[in-house]
This record gives sequence, structure tokens and C-alpha cells, in this order.
Amino acid sequence: MRTEMLIDGEWSKGNGTTFPTLDPATGEVLAEVPEGTEADVNAAVAAAARAFESAEWAGMLPAARAKLLLRLADLLETDADAFARLETSDQGQPLGVSGGFAVPNAVEHLRYYAGWVTKITGVTAPLSIPDVDYRTRREPLGVCALITPWNFPLMILMWKLAPALATGNTVVVKPAEQTPLTTLRLAGLVKEAGIPDGVVNVVTGGPEVGRALVRHPGVAKVSFTGSTEVGREIGAQAGRELKHVSLELGGKAPSIIASDADIDAAVAGNLMGGLLNAGQVCAAYTRFFVDAARHDEFAEKLAAGAASMKLGHGLADDTQMGPVVSAEQRDQAERYVRIGQEDGAHLHDRAPLDDDRGFFVRPAVFSGVTDDMRIAREEIFGPVLSVLPYDDPDELVARANDTVYGLAAVIWSRDIGTANRLAARVRAGTVWINMPPFLDAAAAWGGMKASGLGREMGWSGIEAFTQVKSIWTHLA
Ligand code: NAD
Repeated sequence: MRTEMLIDGEWSKGNGTTFPTLDPATGEVLAEVPEGTEADVNAAVAAAARAFESAEWAGMLPAARAKLLLRLADLLETDADAFARLETSDQGQPLGVSGGFAVPNAVEHLRYYAGWVTKITGVTAPLSIPDVDYRTRREPLGVCALITPWNFPLMILMWKLAPALATGNTVVVKPAEQTPLTTLRLAGLVKEAGIPDGVVNVVTGGPEVGRALVRHPGVAKVSFTGSTEVGREIGAQAGRELKHVSLELGGKAPSIIASDADIDAAVAGNLMGGLLNAGQVCAAYTRFFVDAARHDEFAEKLAAGAASMKLGHGLADDTQMGPVVSAEQRDQAERYVRIGQEDGAHLHDRAPLDDDRGFFVRPAVFSGVTDDMRIAREEIFGPVLSVLPYDDPDELVARANDTVYGLAAVIWSRDIGTANRLAARVRAGTVWINMPPFLDAAAAWGGMKASGLGREMGWSGIEAFTQVKSIWTHLA
């Protein structure tokens, strides 16, 4: 496959310098990718600005733009298997995750937003002024910078790209430096689908490329998914320049397991919610609040389930958990395992590991964790799970909310009234009841507090990439 950047419809090697992207299951170099520079960012933003102004894109009939998105969805679906294998090779996630969830979700987002293209309406309002007709239009913002993380590279890109294009914006994409390959392959499909040159540009590289995009005066909006630390920096810069900004940031999701919960269902759902993609999920279930009477039973069952997981290369048929994305992530997760032990939590037996070439982390389940321990407070973004006992259900909401984050939460209870009352009081953008962390293009997604600003998906995705214009007409 091509590994060049896409700028103004042309493949570009930039100034010729490259960086390697690795297979995290083996540590081997998969490909060399261009190290983009500020000059590449400038060229990409200029191309996107020209494309935004051109009649070909701005003036395109909604039905024609919808057709282009549907064509791109069809091309991606036809090539889904190759995309899934590439994502697994570059990111590490098992093929069941990339092929069964991430790539289909990306296709679904394209189709969902293709459906919106012809339905983005304004309003009319009865003003208390004589002889005036008043209506609104929803207009695109201009050039949007889409900056993505490494945990679900293609899927998270599509959460941004599909609504950005559906609403008539043009974009410059900056994939994470650890996992650029599916984004570059998608750039090939963008060309093949016939989306006009300059509408979608891709510049590869590290944080410097991201910074150059965020500060570029030609960029009207930054849509960012990544860490809270970087999100704060981007939010501050966007605030100074009064750019639109959406931030999807970190999380530390509480999982409340009430005394009446079906423990076996809760264990199965929490194993999936906690260990999907080796725990590299912003909404990963990580803090399990369990009624003290059932704490040991839950912790033992959760630990046994985690210890029985088969770790291996994501492309192998029997793999249940792949590696984490990099040596840094592995070292960070293992550092937290040591911290948990030093802080006095009980570490249960961990799964065996026969292959130590890649960046594998054996899942670690801690029980007897207290709220003040670092493993219960800080985002680890790896397979490290904390079980915390509770005695009094009245203390639950305060304890679950005692975090800077507010992305997601889950509640397990057979009493649907109790579960819904808790759901209303937990400060999180998404609350699931008795289920693993599912996503859908039609369901708004985003965080409260330090987990972000704004929402993606559903109608929120259209709002995030448009602004309202008021048009007044004097009728007299
Ligand atoms: P990161 O913040 O380190 O990097 C994300 C992207 O931003 C990368 O493309 C990176 O190159 C770029 N970047 C880094 N510094 C930048 C800067 N100063 N200016 C502009 N761009 C910059 O995050 P990561 O380590 O790739 O991803 C993990 C984090 O992402 C976790 O905190 C996780 O919770 C979060 N995440 C959130 C969601 C969500 O929907 N809320 C989804 C996935 C991941």
C-alpha cells in the first residue's frame, strides 16, 4: 500500500524524512511514513481552503454529496477485510475487534451521515417585527483539523470525517504517529470515490504537526480525540484564537455493581468493558464498586476470567487480547501494577504469556482497592482493573463522581428503578445499564468535566460541524 501523505489530491513524501510504524505484537517495523512538516501543514490547509471555496464542493447538490459518502462507504466495506488486518497489524487489536467492530462502525458512520446530508434543515420563527420573514441556515465552518488517537484509528477518524464532509466542510487529518496506516489507506479510497481534490488531506507526523494545525489561522475548527493533557493545550490555543473546538478526552469509568446484580452477567460485561482492546478504550470500565457482601465473589470471578484470556498476535485465530500499542504504553501499565501493589491492593494471579517479543501486558485485577489509591484515580489506558467494596449504597454516587473525568459509567442492577435513579446522578456523558460499552452512530458521544467538550455522533455531529446563520427579509 501507499504510505505517502495526501495533499490537494496528490500523494506527497513531504521533505523525504520518515518515521517507522511498528507491529506492536512483534516490535517489527511495518512501514516508514513521512514525517510531515509545517510546510506540509500549510500546503494542506491551503488546499482545503481552496476546496472549501470552490463551487465543486460548496455548491455540490446535497444528494450528490450524499452519493459520494455512500460510495466511500461501499469502497470501505468492499475492502473491509484488508482494513481490519491492517488495523490489527498497526494497532494490535484482535481481528475480532477490528473486523467485527471498528471497521463496520466506520462504514456505518459514513452511511449514517450520508443520510443526514439531505436533511440538514433550518427553522423559521415568528418575529415580533412587522413585514419580516426570518429563517436560519446551517452552514459549514470551513477547514477542519481532525486530530486522532491510536486506540481506534480508523473508527475514531470516521466519527469526525463523516459529519465534517456531510456538512460541507473540508479537512486536514492528522492521525496518531503510532497508527497512521489505515488513515493513509482510506485516503486512497477518498480519491477512488471521486471526492474532489483538496477536500480531504492527510498529513502524518507527531505532536508538532498537530500543533502546527491547531495554530494555523486558516483552520476554523479543531476536532480532537486524545489525552486530557493535550486536550487542555488545544482548548487553550483554540480559545485564544476563537476557533471552534470539540474535545473527546480521557476517562476513568465507574462500574457500579449493586447487591442485587446478576454477578455472572456483570463479570462477563465488565471483562469486555474493561479489557476490550487491552483496556485502551477511553470508556473502559476500570473502577468496579461492588457491594461489600459480594466483593470477593465478584473479584475472584473477574480475576479468573482475566487470567484465562489468551494473549497473542491479533491476527491469530485464538487471540482474545492483543498487545498494547507501544513499549511506552506497556511500561506505563506495568508501572501502575507496581504502584497498586505498593499501595497495598491485592493483585490476583495474572494470565500466562508465552510470547515476549511484542508489547504485551497481562491483565491485572486488583481487589480491596480504596478510593485514594492511584490505580483508582488515574487513567491507565491499559488492562489494569480495580475492585472497590462499598457498604452503603448512599455513598455510591459521591464515590463514583469523585474523579476529574466524566466520560462514561455503567450500572449493574436487577432493579431498573434503582439503576435509572443512579444513572441520573452519575456525572458522565454516557451511562450504560446492565450492558457492555456499546456505541452507535445515532447515539451522542462525549464527556463531562475533564473528559471533554462537545458531543459527536447523532444530530450532535451535525451541530459540531456547522454554524447557524440568520437571514431576515423585509417583505414590504
Ligand atoms: P495524545 O493526546 O497523546 O495524542 C492524540 C493525538 O494528538 C495524536 O495524533 C498526537 O500526535 C496529537 N498530539 C499530541 N500532542 C499534541 C499537541 N500538543 N497539539 C496537537 N496535537 C497533538 O493521546 P493518545 O495517547 O494518542 O490517546 C490516548 C488518549 O486518548 C487517552 O487519554 C484516551 O482516554 C483518549 N481517548 C478518548 C476518546 C474519547 O472518545 N473520549 C477516545 C479514544 C481515546
